[in-house]
Amino acid sequence: MKEIIFQGKNFPIKIDYQPQKRSTLTIKEDHALFSLCYDLSTKQQLEQMKTLHEKLYTTTTKKVVLETLALLKAHSPRRIDKVRFKKMTSRWGSASANFNLNFNLDLAKLPLQVQQYIVIHEYSHLFQMNHSKAFWATVGQFDPHYREHRKILRKYEKAWHKMQTLNN
Ligand SMILES: [Zn+2]
Repeated sequence: MKEIIFQGKNFPIKIDYQPQKRSTLTIKEDHALFSLCYDLSTKQQLEQMKTLHEKLYTTTTKKVVLETLALLKAHSPRRIDKVRFKKMTSRWGSASANFNLNFNLDLAKLPLQVQQYIVIHEYSHLFQMNHSKAFWATVGQFDPHYREHRKILRKYEKAWHKMQTLNN
């Protein structure tokens, strides 16, 4: 692990060893700071870094999704039964006809406006379960700049796909 992708930016990792009980991860201006207990083995360090990294994504993804949904519901109420979060490999989110919404826990990797666009996209499916003109008109009501946000999303997907290919 050399860097952390968070809200559209790459943060190089810095590690700080502290005589404390709990390790932490903080996103700073230009780096991601792991503050680790000094008496951990290398294996334990890596495990804690992985856990903290995942926790950062889980916590921030849930916060952004739930806050955006609250705003959408206040503006234009729609029934939602369940909001679920999970790791998904091929999609950022989905909506089902029985009022459930699902979101990828990796959403936190994307710029904030793009995360919000994804929430808006899935929420709009509760009005239109298709990608018709009417659907995009609904999306446009909530996010007038959705075209630009979709473009940015595609750009990130392309870049990351390339990255994965290079890593393999
Ligand atoms: Zn869709």
